[in-house]
This record gives sequence, C-alpha cells and structure tokens, in this order.
Amino acid sequence: MLNPQEIRKEFPILTQTVYGKPLIYLDNAATTQKPQCVIDAISNAYCTINANVHRGVHHLSQVATEEFEQARSIVQQFIGAAHSHEIIFTRGTTESINLVASSFGNTFLKEGDEVIISTMEHHSNIVPWQMLRDRIGIVLRVIPLTSDEKLDMEAYKALFNERTKLVSIAHVSNVMGVTNPVKECIEIAHNHNVPVLIDGAQSAPHIKIDVQVLDADFFVMSGHKVYAPTGIGVLYGKEKWLNAMQPYHGGGEMIQTVRFEKTTYNELPYKFEAGTPDYVGAIALGKALEWVNSIGIEKIAAHEQMLTRYAVEKLREIPQMRIFGKPDGAAVSFLVGDIHPADLGTILDHLGIAIRTGHHCAQPLIDHFGIPGTVRASFAAYNTKEEVDILVEGIKRAVKMFS
Ligand code: PLP
Repeated sequence: MLNPQEIRKEFPILTQTVYGKPLIYLDNAATTQKPQCVIDAISNAYCTINANVHRGVHHLSQVATEEFEQARSIVQQFIGAAHSHEIIFTRGTTESINLVASSFGNTFLKEGDEVIISTMEHHSNIVPWQMLRDRIGIVLRVIPLTSDEKLDMEAYKALFNERTKLVSIAHVSNVMGVTNPVKECIEIAHNHNVPVLIDGAQSAPHIKIDVQVLDADFFVMSGHKVYAPTGIGVLYGKEKWLNAMQPYHGGGEMIQTVRFEKTTYNELPYKFEAGTPDYVGAIALGKALEWVNSIGIEKIAAHEQMLTRYAVEKLREIPQMRIFGKPDGAAVSFLVGDIHPADLGTILDHLGIAIRTGHHCAQPLIDHFGIPGTVRASFAAYNTKEEVDILVEGIKRAVKMFS
C-alpha cells in the first residue's frame, strides 16, 4: 500500500496554506504538482549540462544529448513501445494530436474521408479534426453515449464504412473519470483496417500503459499531468505510420540535406522534432516517470481508485448530489442541486480546496448533459482520505449557505 503522507513530503508546494487553510489540491486532472527530484532535475540540467542537443561535438552537448535520448528510452519503456524512435517529444497532448491531424491528414486523407471521435472528447481531440475538415473536407463521425454515460459500442461499430480512415478517442474521460474499452475499440477498428489514436492524457498518469498490448497506432500524453514539467509531452506512433507520414514542422534537425531545389528529411524520431527541442523538459519528464516507477503505477492507481470510491460514497450522502458517469479512475464530476459549479468552486477555494469547475474543455459532453458545467475533484498519489473528508464537509457547508 502506498503511504501518501510519505509521498507528500517530496512535494514542496503541498506545505502551503491558502487563505490560512492547508492547501488541498484536488485539480490533478488539470495538472499535477512536482516532486523535488523533478524540480532538481530541471535545475541540475541548467547548472551542469546545458547545451543544445544533437549539434555540438563538444562535451556538454554530448552529455545533454545522451540524457535527452535516455529520457526517450524511459518514455519508451513507460508506455511499452517497441522502439525508442517511435517516441516523438512534443509540447503535450494537444500538440501531439495536432501533429497527427496535420501529418496523417496531409498524407492519407482526402475530401469525404471519415474520422471517428466520441462525444466525450477533450477539445484538443475535436478541434484539430474540425480544422482538417475545414481545410480538406473530411467528415467527422461522433460515437454517442449510452444512457449510463458509456461509449455506445453498437453505435461505434455501425459508424464504420469504406470511407473511415482513422479513429481518435480518449482512453479516460477527463470530465467523468470513466475508462473507455479502448482495446476493444482498437480491435474493432483494425478489423476494418482503420488505425486508432488513443488520447492518453488522463490514462498515462493512472494506468499501466502498454501500447503494444493495446495495439494502438498512436498514443499521446502530456508530461505535466504525470508529475513532469509543463511544455513537454509525447507522441507515440507505430514506425510504419510515422515513416510514411509527412513532417509537421520544418526547420533544423528534421532534415538530412537542404538545397533550394529540394530538401530530404531526417529519420525517426527527428523528422518530427524540428528546431531545438525542450531537452531539459524531456530530461525532467524522464525523471518524473522514474519517480512514478519507483512507487509503482499499479500502487498509485490502487490508491487513487480507493480515493475515488471513497469520494463517490461520501458525496452520495449529500442530498441532491448528481455524479456524472461511473468513475473508475482518479476523477469524479458532480453537481449539487442547482448550485452553479463556479459558486461552489469559489466557496471551496476559500476553504483552501482547489477543485476544477466548468466545462473542462469538453463542451459537447457538457451540452449532452444539458448543464452549465460540473465540479470535478481529481486525485494523485499524494492525496489522502482526510482531504476527501474536508472536501465533503466543505460542500455540505456550501449547500447550507445556499439553502
Ligand atoms: N485530452 C484530455 C483527455 C485531457 O484531459 C487534456 C487536458 O486536460 C488534453 C487532452 C490536453 O492536454 P494538454 O493541455 O496538456 O495538451
């Protein structure tokens, strides 16, 4: 069993008070806090090895390059990829999906081709496809939800036809904390010879990922949601797709030769990493994933699921509580009566409790529920049952104020 009190000691920010109250940070689905070892990794990189990677013959550049490439191998192992050159460093999930929409779109899609997404996608897995629709005339097909807020698998199967070229869906809903049966979704798509992108922004921090077991064609994630710094993320793609796809950005490092008449492109992964990469961010991401490994992702998952179950049980004691979906991961979304989520969030903030309110960048899902937004509590390795108790007491206080 994981001991959150021990883990908390590694997170300097958690010792803070907010409005005189101990900080209770329950906004981990938006971003996680950083352990000291990750903060140190950033500072050490700038203090000891900083030099541009892949470019210099000099010592510092070589050390920086080695650490950068080592971080790529750590990510490869973390998600079970077959090759380290299938790991592309990006700025995060959003950039990774934009990269695929642009490069896969430019290479393989034409007017009338269809891409399947779902009702519960984050805007970053909707808008890039709409931009592609506006540019080349693809058609977006949307998987509806069942009455118990799950992906409607029968409707999903019925969406396939000879024009279907890609499926792009979330592994875990960032609003409801519900895990989708992505392995089954991938099998169904592959039976139609259609590749699948899995948005792992909300799964990689909480579930053991094995892209080969899933047989995902693309898998994307953000470093900052898994204890790493902001501005660094990952695109995993099967070698065969990445090799065939046109580059995304043009510039240094992604080329082999440049002549005014013609340019040839570098091999993977560099073909997709134009310009100076965020090598310090990548090194710190490697450190964050090693930190997760040192605790064990399964232990972290079990702890977070225990907190979610406990939170659901306690929240249900509050009259007029509505919980959205059946959360099985590290987040729970709810509303109480007709209290506006922003009002509830403001009151909780004054009690030192950081939770997220609003549409969570998933407006189509919020529209589907016909509500203004939800209140979302989301957990990480350092959260405790006592914090859930304080959250529930805070909500009860707020309800009294409004009644
Ligand atoms: N997809 C999902 C499911 C998310 O929860 C998020 C962020 O909350 C994103 C994509 C976008 O991630 P980022 O803003 O780190 O690019």
